[in-house]
Amino acid sequence: MTKRVLLAKPRGYCAGVDRAVVTVEKALETYGAPVYVRKEIVHNKHVVETLTERGAIFVDEADEVPEGALVVFSAHGVSPAVHDQAAARQLRTIDATCPLVTKVHQEAKRFARDDYDILLIGHEGHEEVEGTAGEAPEHVQLVDTAEDAANVTVRDPSKVVWLSQTTLSVDETMVRVNQLKSRFPELQNPPSDDICYATQNRQVAVKAMAPECDLVLVVGSQNSSNSKRLVEVALQAGARASYLVDYAREVDETWLDGVVTVGVTSGASVPDILVMDLLSWLADRGFADVQEVTTANEKVSFALPRELRKALKDNDLLGSVR
Ligand code: SF4
Repeated sequence: MTKRVLLAKPRGYCAGVDRAVVTVEKALETYGAPVYVRKEIVHNKHVVETLTERGAIFVDEADEVPEGALVVFSAHGVSPAVHDQAAARQLRTIDATCPLVTKVHQEAKRFARDDYDILLIGHEGHEEVEGTAGEAPEHVQLVDTAEDAANVTVRDPSKVVWLSQTTLSVDETMVRVNQLKSRFPELQNPPSDDICYATQNRQVAVKAMAPECDLVLVVGSQNSSNSKRLVEVALQAGARASYLVDYAREVDETWLDGVVTVGVTSGASVPDILVMDLLSWLADRGFADVQEVTTANEKVSFALPRELRKALKDNDLLGSVR
């Protein structure tokens, strides 16, 4: 049988990641290095290393940024406490929070104002979850595991809503929601999908190709939630094996033993150059036949953060924005 590669589409960069990365690039061009970035701008090793080489300095907290300096907030969003911290240090800020994360923040604020208990389905310790929960810490409880769903308590079971992290597995989230609904039958759904279009589309594409694959390779970093979910979805959808790699060089050649069809995809924070590197690595090992499996064509794009647009306009650079 001919060895082949099935290449998922959509894969890689989503609109929120593209916007966040361009934000740091444009901030470096406009203001010069260094530009501080709180947390990894997006969860991808290659992106962080490349921006570091260009003069970005990644820090964990705003209090590590020198007073008065410029700091960019990452695509995952920040809580109001972080904005306060930045204001107290007189930092100049550019907020690269993805608009789809901001949408979940708005939902959290709205339901908190109406005095709901909010059950936030997400992964403990993930930056996005910390940012969303920080909008209404008194009202939000994190539901990560099945155990959390079994044990969480609410004040009034008729006034409870679930929201979620944007990058979860769609199927697993519904398992958690059903578990919660069996305990709280009046549990309300979010006003619109919190799991974003990019996460959903990449999972649908993987599901379409996985049953035909002996192996699915997902390009992405270990701390990237949506990338990790792609490995899980591939396995659940029938791939015999699936692994997450940052770079082609991390692929263990023994994974290819007896393999005829390799599926390839990448997380929403992954530049396509890394996928192209993997394809040429595979071609060198006899997997030169590449067929794209397309389940959607994405046309979403987001305007750059307001603060940056203004600076670019003042400098007459807006025309050069991708
Ligand atoms: S994965 Fe979704 S929520 Fe996250 S940055 Fe991309 S579009 Fe925004």
